[in-house]
Amino acid sequence: MIHSEINELVAILRRMFPKGAALHEPKFELKEKEYVADCLESGWVSSAGAYIEKFENNLCQITGHQHAIATVNGTAALQVILQTAGMQQGSEVLLPSLTFVGTANAILNGGGIPHFVDSEPHSLGPDPRKLENYLERIVVFKDGEPFNQRTSRRIFGLVPVHLFGHPVRGDSLKEICSRYKLQLIEDAAESLGSKSNGRHVGHSGLAAILSFNGNKIVTTGGGGAILTNHSELAARTRHVVNTARLRHSWEFLHDMQAFNFRMPNINAALGLGQLERIDTLVTKKRSLHAAYRRELRQISMGQLFAEQAGCNSNHWFNVFLLSSPDRAIRDAILQSTNQVGIQTRPVWKLLHQLEFLKGFPKDDLSQAEILQDQIICMPGSPHLADEMEVA
Ligand SMILES: *Cc1c(COP(=O)(O)O)cnc(C)c1O
Repeated sequence: MIHSEINELVAILRRMFPKGAALHEPKFELKEKEYVADCLESGWVSSAGAYIEKFENNLCQITGHQHAIATVNGTAALQVILQTAGMQQGSEVLLPSLTFVGTANAILNGGGIPHFVDSEPHSLGPDPRKLENYLERIVVFKDGEPFNQRTSRRIFGLVPVHLFGHPVRGDSLKEICSRYKLQLIEDAAESLGSKSNGRHVGHSGLAAILSFNGNKIVTTGGGGAILTNHSELAARTRHVVNTARLRHSWEFLHDMQAFNFRMPNINAALGLGQLERIDTLVTKKRSLHAAYRRELRQISMGQLFAEQAGCNSNHWFNVFLLSSPDRAIRDAILQSTNQVGIQTRPVWKLLHQLEFLKGFPKDDLSQAEILQDQIICMPGSPHLADEMEVA
């Protein structure tokens, strides 16, 4: 019974993608080639140049943030903003276990302690009620600051992740964070172009980060960005991202220890052309999602994960969710789709199960563990939508 359904699923996917499909790959157009060529021509390929500023301005237009700071990658962006926002050495930062390892690495690299919380099946983000219950049990306030009474460490904040482009429950998380005096910094690495209640994601807390890695909706080869509406924080962050160099016409003056995390101009040139057509990219990804929805209707062992009411996801990857968690069925589907050139993947191994992250504090993570055995990520490249129209 299950096996014939797996065969049916594979047959549908092969019909949708006769030439096979990668999980996510970029397709560059004339604009990018022009901008990159122009950048090479100018000689300004490194950490100064006009494309970085254009790229940042364009990001502000798309997301509605007042400030965007382009960085070498998303992990670096998250590390820096955590530090400039006040994460101290040894303070704990809450994050879902169901995320990419970069979220935890950014916390660790900045001197923080990752502290894992559970996710929910509705948004794939942190479960607000469970989070609140947990905080009620572990938080004590000392001089108005939240501490984990089990470890005696300060809890700095929460980093929710808009998984696969699906917005988290920002309003509830914001409310909980303000009650517990936690900073809220959003990992929006996967969700450029995603909206919640008509607004681009990344406005629930102090700041948000994006990634422009090769498999994201817009890529600069490698890259990231920090988004915030907080002007003073933006100015300080921009300063430490770029070696804390003071303005001077010829002298090298730096007023503090800092990072060299600025995005190079050539990477910004590559990304700018894609940013200029972000609406088209999102529309294509959404129509690909609609096609999956139509085609997979008759499959009963699971269904396509749908966006929540009020949300507009960029559907970075398309998530097929098994109705009941079953590692063997999940792996059988992964096996038979990859075998025929349809690239599918499970969700990342839960972070608290990775050897180097096992010793860190955590809540009960049973929902994340269930989701791990339900999620199958399916191809999401925007151009797949065009290829299907032709087919
Ligand atoms: C891609 C990604 C990052 C990190 O991005 P890099 O640019 O690769 O450093 C962080 N968090 C999540 C959820 C991601 O998907």
